[in-house]
Amino acid sequence: MSASTKYVFVTGGVTSSLGKGIIAASLAKLLQARGYRVTIQKLDPYINVDPGTLNPYEHGECFVTEDGAETDLDLGHYERFLNVNTSQANNVTTGRIYQSVINKEREGAFLGKTVQVIPHITDEIKRRIKLLGNTGNYDIVITEIGGTVGDIESLPYIEAVRQLKWEPNFDCIVLHLTLVPFLATSGELKTKPTQHSVKSLLESGVQPDILALRTEYKLTDGVKEKVALFCNIAPNAVIQAIDAETIYEVPLLMKEEKLDQVVLEKLDMAPKLEPSLDAWNGFLTNLKNPKTTVKIGLIGKYIELKDSYKSIAEALIHAGASIETKVELDWIHSESINNGNAQEKLGRLNGILVAPGFGERGIEGKIATVKFSRENNIPFLGICLGMQCAVIEYARNVLGHNDAHSTEMEPGTTTPVIYLMKDQENISDKGGTMRLGAYPCKVTNDSLAFKAYQKNEITERHRHRYEFNNTYRAEFEAAGMKTSGVNPNNDLVEIVENTDHPWFVGVQFHPEYKSTVLTPHPLFTDFLKASGLNK
Ligand code: GLN
Repeated sequence: MSASTKYVFVTGGVTSSLGKGIIAASLAKLLQARGYRVTIQKLDPYINVDPGTLNPYEHGECFVTEDGAETDLDLGHYERFLNVNTSQANNVTTGRIYQSVINKEREGAFLGKTVQVIPHITDEIKRRIKLLGNTGNYDIVITEIGGTVGDIESLPYIEAVRQLKWEPNFDCIVLHLTLVPFLATSGELKTKPTQHSVKSLLESGVQPDILALRTEYKLTDGVKEKVALFCNIAPNAVIQAIDAETIYEVPLLMKEEKLDQVVLEKLDMAPKLEPSLDAWNGFLTNLKNPKTTVKIGLIGKYIELKDSYKSIAEALIHAGASIETKVELDWIHSESINNGNAQEKLGRLNGILVAPGFGERGIEGKIATVKFSRENNIPFLGICLGMQCAVIEYARNVLGHNDAHSTEMEPGTTTPVIYLMKDQENISDKGGTMRLGAYPCKVTNDSLAFKAYQKNEITERHRHRYEFNNTYRAEFEAAGMKTSGVNPNNDLVEIVENTDHPWFVGVQFHPEYKSTVLTPHPLFTDFLKASGLNK
């Protein structure tokens, strides 16, 4: 660790889903806006080695970093707020910690010692925590500990924090986020759950330095003072975290509460500049004062849990704000669509986005959606599986290959227009083995993609096993579906466009992972512009 790197641990109490990720990202944003170099790390207490093998219904979307890590969706928030890339080191799970320790044990690295949670697991947790500080790239590392204090699973992490608080030359503080519920019957805000949650941290030997209290209503001074007194916290370090209209307002709310100032004081750091949030405020002004509205349909099979498509929904918000357009997002289940009801289900939409995904469920609904968009000139963006569906639909309904499919869904198809990538053929493990992370793509002039990017050379992030089958490329091109983006190194088709349509683009990569508040993604922006013209 470079001597100057300081750490803020963010823990959560009372209940899950309080928004630790957003509070951490907002604090990071404020510190960054003061001129500090900041990054955020998430420690997840589950046993999966990474969330790549998790069904989205469990924890929502799997976010992918430039360097190909499959991570918790909170890393998406960090990147969207901070406009800087995260990496493999920014997300660590209990599974990964145990995997490293067990591998070392098999190598004999513990020299016959009994391998135990303390010190071996906690040492590995501490090593992972320090990795980002050790790069020398950051003044402050914010480390968010997933789960809720008191969970059995979180105990080794809290113990690691306790040890680090006592370690010489390790500068850190603990920010604990809890809930102050409002009891409607008595008309009161209640502090007892917060008191208990801090007690639970104290039982593990950790005294928080700052408390952030999630609340639906403004906290009175009385409530703050009471919490301060019962929880051994300075009154100015009890921060109100009131519900916000949009997550993007939270940095401003935290600024009003002086969270960044309190953090810097506790870390003995000079306040440097006042945070400058002009560009952020510009985004919020546009977001809140749209001049027009477009209706976009998001067609996917996990729509019951909207977090499954978190980055796509946020990318639409960023792009919409940049052109003063409100995006009304209609979440439509792919299983509910067929050729017979497409007009009724999709007819009112200005633009259609077919989401990424895996497996058979809902696939025919996605293909019917593509057909409807293509035949009715509705602006279309297909992402990953969405692009593959666009290719299948074109093969079936324009090129006349009735049997066309992806070998993922139909291994025996006679027309495998989408098939398994060569280097995937001998892979049987599911975890971390897809084509992951950033790869280059060459965009052809005179395409919708070029119009959007305004350049020929781009890189985008990936997460897939199947690809466009180049055997059919000439046939597609001749009929009017052109391949406007190709990987220059291996000729893998990255972008397809339908030339006989106002705006129809399918991308094998995931543009949504690169969209941030301050740099909306050009494909999303152009998709919305085209949708705005289709009203
Ligand atoms: N299932 C497809 C593949 O593996 C698409 C993946 C995705 O949409 N992320 O290629």
